[in-house]
Amino acid sequence: MQLNDSGLLQTQGFIDGQWRSAMSGKTFEVINPATGALLAEVADMGAAETREAIEAAENAMQSWKALPAKARCDILERWFDLIIAAQEDLAQLMTAEQGKPLAEARGEVAYGAAYLKWFSEEGKRVYGDVIPQQSDRRGLVIKQPVGVVAAITPWNFPNAMITRKVAPALAVGCAVVLKPAAETPLSALALAELAKRAGLPDGLFNIVTGLDAPAIGGEMTGSKIVRKVTFTGSTPVGKLLMRQCADTVKRTSMELGGNAPVIIFDDADLELAVNGAIAAKYRNSGQTCICSNRLLVQAGIYDKFVEKFAEKVKAFNVGNGALDGTTHGPLITTKAVNDVHSKVLDAIDGGACVVTGGKPGAQGAHFYEPTVLTNVHSGMRVFREEIFGPVAPVFKFDTEAEAIAMANDTEFGLASYVYTENMGRIFRVSEALEYGMVGVNETAISSELIPFGGVKESGQGREGSKYGLNDYLETKYICLGGLNRA
Ligand code: ADP
Repeated sequence: MQLNDSGLLQTQGFIDGQWRSAMSGKTFEVINPATGALLAEVADMGAAETREAIEAAENAMQSWKALPAKARCDILERWFDLIIAAQEDLAQLMTAEQGKPLAEARGEVAYGAAYLKWFSEEGKRVYGDVIPQQSDRRGLVIKQPVGVVAAITPWNFPNAMITRKVAPALAVGCAVVLKPAAETPLSALALAELAKRAGLPDGLFNIVTGLDAPAIGGEMTGSKIVRKVTFTGSTPVGKLLMRQCADTVKRTSMELGGNAPVIIFDDADLELAVNGAIAAKYRNSGQTCICSNRLLVQAGIYDKFVEKFAEKVKAFNVGNGALDGTTHGPLITTKAVNDVHSKVLDAIDGGACVVTGGKPGAQGAHFYEPTVLTNVHSGMRVFREEIFGPVAPVFKFDTEAEAIAMANDTEFGLASYVYTENMGRIFRVSEALEYGMVGVNETAISSELIPFGGVKESGQGREGSKYGLNDYLETKYICLGGLNRA
């Protein structure tokens, strides 16, 4: 890994503006999933460091929230500029620790930075209301920062899952304590270095790195100072955190698992549908929460779709994401490879046909072959569970009603996609899908401009767009009385 700016490779935690080793002196290893090479040894912190970070955040927030919004937002904008200037280094770091191809990593850095730019603008528009009343009083409604925010983020988007939480929180006057995933702490720490250079005051953005997630998460959720927990990750951990937050009645934002259907009707533009389904399924080697999990294809175009889809999958160039020409990288861990393979074996046991792939990849311990399965049904794990790997089960349906029923037959409700050229059907199906997001003839649906989030067990709250600010704001009502006195 060759960085132009070696200051971006940080291996200590970041508390109150200082780089800090763990109190125990312990470290943990960060591994390149493509090669198995040791990249860094990072501070292995726990509950005590988390407590310090929370206290630092509370102190720092007092003057931060009192600043005019523009002063806060100017710093976020400088942070954005520094991230864009460091895009190549940040992409190299990300590919090294996460595995995604460099082109995807560069894209994520730009996507992640865009949240800072967006919220540096939106943070100046935290408007309230004046409520008209008939008596001698008026009601004012103002919005205030929710308080100290604890954020826990996953490894699949090591940059953007952080900025989409931290940017709105800081913009409205909150301070943040972040626990990044232990697989990918380097991208998070590089962001902190750039925040410091952008002039973000000490204590507003703290990073606690560590392997003991339950200890760090327990301290965050148990703290009376922390007023909000924002989490992106698996549904079981999200539920656990919500339970832990109940004792102090904290607000939560949860961006959890998905089981996205891509519904492709006979009247779809086949080329568009194949390309969209490929992108939605195999981006980040299938490791995104809005990756299509289930391809639902109408009987009339099923065979043609499978043929074209599999042809493209066979042309992928799987390998080390840092090398030119690699289209798809490794999975994050061997555990991930085993999880994916067990779901494929379950499908094969149930009668699925393997059109291509179907086993761990030859490139190394973290690789899985891009896979296409047919002859699949709703009793299989690939229908019911989030696959989180490069495996596309293609299900067949006959009618629109059947497609909607299959799509909604899950406890998840994050992203869904529909391909059709029929305007009436676009509205009918979009409105019937029990999902937070619907892509119509499009699968690249995410950006800083839109409210990202799910329903049912996929979570609550929205990230990005004007709605993304609400997750970090409290609404206060002020009653002005006695206005009719002369
Ligand atoms: P995945 O299985 O994809 O890694 P997780 O939900 O386990 O998804 O991880 C997402 C984030 O949640 C990571 O930062 C991880 O360290 C953290 N995490 C996992 N378990 C806990 C827990 N008990 N308390 C707090 N954070 C946790």
